[in-house]
Amino acid sequence: MAGKIFVKDLIKKYGDNTVLKGISTTIKDGEVVCIIGPSGSGKSTFLRCLNQLEEVNSGTIVIDDFDITDSQTDINQVRENIGMVFQHFNLFPHLTVRENITLAPQDLKGLTKSEANALADKLLDMVGLLDKAEVYPNSLSGGQKQRVAIARALAMKPNIMLFDEPTSALDPEMVGDVLNVMKKLAENGMTMVIVTHEMGFAKEVADRVIFTDGGEIVEEGTPEQVFNHPQHERTRSFLNKVL
Ligand code: ADP
Ligand code: MG
Repeated sequence: MAGKIFVKDLIKKYGDNTVLKGISTTIKDGEVVCIIGPSGSGKSTFLRCLNQLEEVNSGTIVIDDFDITDSQTDINQVRENIGMVFQHFNLFPHLTVRENITLAPQDLKGLTKSEANALADKLLDMVGLLDKAEVYPNSLSGGQKQRVAIARALAMKPNIMLFDEPTSALDPEMVGDVLNVMKKLAENGMTMVIVTHEMGFAKEVADRVIFTDGGEIVEEGTPEQVFNHPQHERTRSFLNKVL
């Protein structure tokens, strides 16, 4: 599998509240897309639709060659290919750091314990936390927890990584370490969709920035286009508040 995402006319409602009002976009294999926009504009809902944590009301989502809005598609197979990292880490508190990472590859990919341990240690080394393999999550800082969460997602060898405000719950001094890990992933060609308020990161790392407001894509383009030459008043007014 590669790491392509095709979205057409996506509509998502909660009751009478239409939260996504016809989203269309295509994300290429290896592309890094940052989604910015005000709170409540549907950013999290969009990410959750991409891996079917939410059922859509209408529209099409094709991940690689799998139409995930088609009930015939084996969604679990597609999901294994998509890693997700949330604002609040969601690590298993009763498992060590290494066990957090080895659980899914053993259960879902049939790795032996020693294969899974070797993989976990390689990923922990990559996120700079090999010395924390034996500890429990509650002894880690927020930034360390988030790097473990990223390693855990990577252990399934996904081709696509979704990030929902991965640094929003962190103390400022922790943010850089997490962003650096994400930057490394981007440089290694991972397809990434990142909801973030880190405008500096988006400017530096994104291939494309999508600005959403009120459940719509208001505008999208390169960081240069969106940050330096926004075309829409709504984009300008948002950027004035956050930059
Ligand atoms: P964002 O991530 O951009 O802040 P969300 O996707 O979380 O926005 O939310 C978009 C809108 O959908 C908000 O009005 C929110 O209240 C509503 N919403 C989100 N999740 C649910 C849910 N599970 N049930 C009902 N409404 C929801
Ligand atoms: Mg959100």
